Amino acid sequence: MSRARLLTWRTCVVRSVLIGSLLAATIAGAYADSSAIERLKEGNERFIHQKMLHPRIDSADREGLENAQRPFAAILSCSDSRVPPEIVFDQGLGDLFTVRIAGNVVKDVVLGSLEYAVLHLKTKAIVVMGHTHCGAVKAAIAGERQQNHIDVLIESIHPAVALARKDRGDLETNAVYENVRQSMREIVLDSPALKTEAAAGRLSIFGAVYNLTSGEVEFIK
Ligand SMILES: [Zn+2]
Repeated sequence: MSRARLLTWRTCVVRSVLIGSLLAATIAGAYADSSAIERLKEGNERFIHQKMLHPRIDSADREGLENAQRPFAAILSCSDSRVPPEIVFDQGLGDLFTVRIAGNVVKDVVLGSLEYAVLHLKTKAIVVMGHTHCGAVKAAIAGERQQNHIDVLIESIHPAVALARKDRGDLETNAVYENVRQSMREIVLDSPALKTEAAAGRLSIFGAVYNLTSGEVEFIK
């Protein structure tokens, strides 16, 4: 192995260990205060079994939220029309701070929105939610260039697809899960502010995958 390749390999190993430690600490924090996730799970159960409450959507709720908001979770999800967070979690006005972008990828503007939720609205949980049959992930696997701005989204998913190719089982399914994990890593690696909040135990970051057929949101570790 050449010296350059050895250094690159060492850098990757150190980076992986650091990421793993930080993610483990973040998730440990999450289980210490998992009320946000419990609310999301309960709402998703209502959605799956068609017992939705459609909470907090009347005129009194609108008036109560006129001057302030305190969303209990921020959701980074795909823009796909079949994956609306407020519906699949049966939540109302003021409950969720949603950031939606095709392929639920992390870009500077996405981090800006998440930082606003955490630093200014005091949201303590971020959920990165991918979904089955994601067109952006399928396009990243196909590897075809679109020659327009769609390429920016697709290229962001390529590292996750490369990791998924090393896994056993269905490539598309594995790529969806890897893409969620990649976005979770990038949130803490690319945002010093969010990394600080997570390290201090004021922020927990969760991964999830929504199943288009069953309606179930699976929270992943
Ligand atoms: Zn999608």
